[in-house]
Amino acid sequence: MKNYINDFLRLFFPSVCLICGNALLTHENYICRKCNKDLPKSHFHLADNNPLNQLFWGRTNIDKVVSYLLYTHGNMVKHILHALKYRNQKELGFELGKRYSQELAEISYFDEVDWVIPVPIHAKKLAIRGYNQSEWIAKGICENLNGEIMPDNLYKKTFTSTQTNKSRYQRWENIENTFDLRDANALENKTVLLVDDVLTTGATIEGCANTLETIPGITVHVATLAYATN
Ligand SMILES: [Zn+2]
Repeated sequence: MKNYINDFLRLFFPSVCLICGNALLTHENYICRKCNKDLPKSHFHLADNNPLNQLFWGRTNIDKVVSYLLYTHGNMVKHILHALKYRNQKELGFELGKRYSQELAEISYFDEVDWVIPVPIHAKKLAIRGYNQSEWIAKGICENLNGEIMPDNLYKKTFTSTQTNKSRYQRWENIENTFDLRDANALENKTVLLVDDVLTTGATIEGCANTLETIPGITVHVATLAYATN
């Protein structure tokens, strides 16, 4: 009966797939079966030789790095990231985070995580967009992991200093990736999972990790929704 009513309601108020926009069937949630089947998953958490583990060598002490999806030129991940960031579809981030953590939990990956920390966006950007997309992915990830979300400790600050020896690009990157903590003590000897929407050069993750790694005894892992391979 409930399904019948749902189908009836959907006739007039169709729920659509957050990725392709086609109408969803009764048992489909947020993402249609076809898009779900076509998600370009990396399966890095199952690989013996996860290529992302090398990405931060010599830059940070990050322990494990994984990404759910592979973002290659023109694939569906472009639409996912765009919808998440610019079309107010934060629920898509939650849903994909939840699906990813289901797969991670199956092999007890990240079982030891105490806190899940979204990469923060600047307060001004937050005021404009109304939400931090990484926080919604992190919330979804928390659905199936032991760790709890901690969204307000790590924050992005505005930074100005004279860095006359740096190239213009490096200077820009440094300013772009300056973070600080409101309560460093809360993370002493803890294991944290840093969550972001997309991993490209890793400069943002590096900025966050460098700040977190000033805390004694901390272990930092990273999970992103997508990894841009080119
Ligand atoms: Zn779809």
